[in-house]
Amino acid sequence: MIEPSPLPWLSATIIGITPVTAQVKSFRLAVAFDRIALAGQHVDVRLTAPDGYQAQRSYSIASAPGNDGTIELMVEGSAQGEVSSFFDGVAEVGDTIELRGPIGGAFVWRAQDGGPLLLIGGGSGVVPLLAMLRHRAEAAPAVPALLLYSVRHGAEAIARDELSRRARDEPGFDLVLSLTREGGRRIDATLVGEALTRLGQPRHAYLCGANPFVSAAADLLVEAGLPPGAIRTERFGG
Ligand SMILES: Cc1cc2nc3c(=O)[nH]c(=O)nc-3n(C[C@H](O)[C@H](O)[C@H](O)COP(=O)(O)OP(=O)(O)OC[C@H]3O[C@@H](n4cnc5c(N)ncnc54)[C@H](O)[C@@H]3O)c2cc1C
Repeated sequence: MIEPSPLPWLSATIIGITPVTAQVKSFRLAVAFDRIALAGQHVDVRLTAPDGYQAQRSYSIASAPGNDGTIELMVEGSAQGEVSSFFDGVAEVGDTIELRGPIGGAFVWRAQDGGPLLLIGGGSGVVPLLAMLRHRAEAAPAVPALLLYSVRHGAEAIARDELSRRARDEPGFDLVLSLTREGGRRIDATLVGEALTRLGQPRHAYLCGANPFVSAAADLLVEAGLPPGAIRTERFGG
């Protein structure tokens, strides 16, 4: 059997940096992929130090599929993190970094996949779900969708204004924001039940965030009666 050749490392130029929250920055990168990135896919980023030491991490693509030769990443900075500290404190417009992608076949939503679409994100786990919502708005606005987004504080919510605007202006899109340190509930059976009542039985559920968050949310969906085959997960680690 012939193994598929690995995706090549490409040079990507940072063409824009925008703060998203106090911890998260958006990076617009110009990169010449040989295919259009699908909503939900990610890239690998590889940094090389002057002494040759390399660090590699994955980052989800926040932008909707498009062919303008750019993608958007949203990186949560951490002073101690090897790669996120580069994005947070070192990266500048004009820098080039190595990327390969787009990567990921299971955690992908295409317009033709239809819905209803249940999206559950924790923290920066909302990034690939944002790509799906942006794609839905452009390509399949009639697909019912609900995002259940859990963060500790409202100020930490990524793209909060965009999500609120979409919930207000886009028929069929519903947003449930759970601010766990501001009197909101953690995602539990009751919250999941309410989301399912508002959305209807989802055809697809996409869950993304830190490992414990994703495991807990997947268990809740199975307990609520969703077929495991309808549930797709992306785990950021942690
Ligand atoms: C498919 C996929 C998609 C992803 N998409 C995104 C995304 O869109 N956005 C995003 O922000 N992340 C995303 N991640 C997570 C990302 O890949 C990295 O794991 C994350 O940025 C942390 O990497 P790092 O190199 O900065 O931290 P690491 O160096 O790997 O450290 C991990 C953690 O340990 C802590 N740490 C390290 N050293 C110390 C120390 N000495 N003392 C105390 N604490 C320490 C760091 O603060 C950090 O929180 C994704 C992960 C996957 C698998």
